[in-house]
Amino acid sequence: MQGELLRRTFIGAGPAAVLGAAPGRSVKDPPALLGGEPVRRKGFPSWPQPTSADEKNWLDALRAGKWWRREGHYVRDFEKAWAERMDARYCLATANGTSALMASLHALEVGPKDEVLVSPYTFIATINSIAAHYALPVFVDTDPESMMIDAGKIEAAITARTRCIMPVHLGGNVADMDRILQISKKRNIPVIEDACQAHLSEWRTRKVSTLGNLGCFSFQKFKNLPGGEAGGVITNDEKLYQSAFGFHSHYLTLDEAAPGPSPRRNGINLRMAEFQAALLLAQLTRLEGQAKTREQNAAILGELLAEVPGVKPAKMYSGCTRNGYHLYMMRYDPDAFAGLPRERFIQAVRAEGIPLSAGYGPLNKDPFLENTFASRTWRAVYTKKEIDNWRERNQCPANDRLTREGLWFSQNVLLADKAAMEDIATAFGKVYRHAEAIRKG
Ligand SMILES: *Cc1c(COP(=O)(O)O)cnc(C)c1O
Repeated sequence: MQGELLRRTFIGAGPAAVLGAAPGRSVKDPPALLGGEPVRRKGFPSWPQPTSADEKNWLDALRAGKWWRREGHYVRDFEKAWAERMDARYCLATANGTSALMASLHALEVGPKDEVLVSPYTFIATINSIAAHYALPVFVDTDPESMMIDAGKIEAAITARTRCIMPVHLGGNVADMDRILQISKKRNIPVIEDACQAHLSEWRTRKVSTLGNLGCFSFQKFKNLPGGEAGGVITNDEKLYQSAFGFHSHYLTLDEAAPGPSPRRNGINLRMAEFQAALLLAQLTRLEGQAKTREQNAAILGELLAEVPGVKPAKMYSGCTRNGYHLYMMRYDPDAFAGLPRERFIQAVRAEGIPLSAGYGPLNKDPFLENTFASRTWRAVYTKKEIDNWRERNQCPANDRLTREGLWFSQNVLLADKAAMEDIATAFGKVYRHAEAIRKG
């Protein structure tokens, strides 16, 4: 099926279509940034996409007046549906993805003076969930080809304080779970998968979030399954589920589906409201179809971009049997574009009507970390020597380079049609041909 799709694409649009002019245009047409006509005026699908089914569920939750999980049924129905979809025993619905990560870290008893191994190429929430428990995020360099944590560099980062490995399946691509699980087993260090961008992604046909001890999702507005603000923890381990559940609801017995764990102890309120769950259940009916569209368009785009020198889509490891494509991630090489800096390339492509963005910056060097360490509470937990030691270990040269090269499209771009993918490639080709003029202009 996929092979045929690729063949058809290949016949339809060869190198000429990409590096040559768009239909009805001359190759001499100036780029939009220098006053020419943009390749695309139509825009791309918006996100989220509310429907009447969403509206019906939402209003039903509203009118029922049972606005929290103990009285209503939507939160529990959603937990059941998402656990089933993941082929997992337990799903705990949470207020958002950050709190799903926090509840998971609590379940593993991660706290002050513990170290959590994590990639610096991620959204800040991954790091903040660790910092919220006063644990140290210890950064492992990225594999720039895949943009995932470099599993080959994990073992060297392990110390007696390492309490957890937290791979992030960024953009729906999947970290090298074979090697990560091997290390986890050998060194007896649990794994929390940050699958907040990886709805329906798979490793060797198993859904991500079920490979480690716990897995976390975000259902924030921008995510592939959106509920405004919402999240979820997935696990097959009853004890971990009980702890995560307890923490997320003050360790109170609130739900006959999940008796409060004992002994009771400190928790917090990270509960999902009925409205989010009602919306998510309706959105969930469309997730698979949208995922298929994204995969098909990603395959088309991959074939077309293979003709553009200097733009390289992120590699998938052979174990990745499905990419959820929250992002379409690429790397940019200015040398192939007459030295055109990445920011200028992005500007030029955007001027053509294509919403291209730069990727993440080097989070491990972000000043928010130093400000955190300098705060009164952190100074009460960590000695100067411990933080100095952290600084010495905080070297991620491959990631530094990646943060200068990253490019991506958000998932809604992949919900457009095939002609839109061709417009993207045409715009890239146009900027490629005029790179020198744009650099000088
Ligand atoms: C979105 C996201 C989170 C946090 O989710 P929220 O629902 O926004 O709290 C965590 N990790 C990654 C990688 C994310 O993209």
